[in-house]
Amino acid sequence: MNTIHWSVEKNVDNLDRYPQIVEAAQYLSDDQVVAFPTETVYGLGANAYSDKAVAQIFAAKGRPADNPLIVHIAEYQQLEKLVIEVSEQAKLLIKAFWPGPLTLIFPRKPGILSELVTAGLDTVAIRMPSHPIALALIRTSGLPIAAPSANRSGKPSPTTAQHVEQDLSGKIAGIVDGGAAGVGLESTVLDCTGQKPVILRPGDITKEEMEVVLSNKMSLASNVLGKSESPRAPGMKYKHYSPNAPLYLVDGESTWIQSLIKEKREQGVKVGVLASTETKIAYDADLVLDCGSRKNLAAVARQLYDNLRKFDQTGVDLIFAEVFPKSGVGVAIMNRLEKAAGHHWIFQKDQS
Ligand code: AMP
Ligand code: MG
Repeated sequence: MNTIHWSVEKNVDNLDRYPQIVEAAQYLSDDQVVAFPTETVYGLGANAYSDKAVAQIFAAKGRPADNPLIVHIAEYQQLEKLVIEVSEQAKLLIKAFWPGPLTLIFPRKPGILSELVTAGLDTVAIRMPSHPIALALIRTSGLPIAAPSANRSGKPSPTTAQHVEQDLSGKIAGIVDGGAAGVGLESTVLDCTGQKPVILRPGDITKEEMEVVLSNKMSLASNVLGKSESPRAPGMKYKHYSPNAPLYLVDGESTWIQSLIKEKREQGVKVGVLASTETKIAYDADLVLDCGSRKNLAAVARQLYDNLRKFDQTGVDLIFAEVFPKSGVGVAIMNRLEKAAGHHWIFQKDQS
């Protein structure tokens, strides 16, 4: 399949009538899959009503069929067509954070969306993205758009059109290239169908920000905290975000991390390091990537997946990644890094 590349400026007027958007929307209406930028990462979109369209998402990504997709909408009225009920809590969160990087779980109306989207669950995950290109594309198609991240399953999510091309060129109808995505990590996923809201996946909208809106404490799902109980978001059990080389989270001083690097390199192992701006100078390795300042976690989030992909391009044998404080967006950064590492940690205190 020849994958079309549409370049679109996100700040032009009247994006809904922009020829590239109109053409990409037509592909969606024709049950083809199209990648597009959102404010989190690039999504791989398909008509959420159509089994034929949604099946192509799973095929192109190599995604397990029991991992449901998030449905993207551009207008509030679309939500009412898809769900049985919007709880009071959900209404408050929608008012505060939509359009934006917050996905909410709702009880779904049966028989409307393709069953493939929800993987047999009686709930559906929905969000309204804030990226102008995503909104224009969804509005122009007139459809709810099922869209997971536009990467091969298991790889780091794409934050540029080039990342999408690396993974999916020839496997999808087209890519709308709108430049780099904003946040760099996938949306926060929140289940507020029960009495107490539960964060199934941390993201840019933090626990603290949502607690202010609901005047209510919320909890993180046990799998987010690294515990082994079976996950409530089915996708959370799968390997994710992984570079080709094994990645270890290293929790300790940089002099100790450098001693680990030295030991491995003396054994002939090519070592990559994901370091903060503040500490990168301490490392002598085959590839040291600066993933941003500890004082600016939003910038670390934005560059994280691009950095993980760079290790693949350089072909290191082993990666050591520094750890970040689990506060604010740091919770989401560490959630993704822990998954990239398959929860493999090395602690300085264990070694001394
Ligand atoms: P991605 O498509 O990579 O953004 O991942 C979407 C995440 O949302 C996965 O972890 C899914 O398991 C989760 N998800 C989607 N639909 C539901 C649902 N109905 N209930 C719980 N989690 C869901
Ligand atoms: Mg994904």
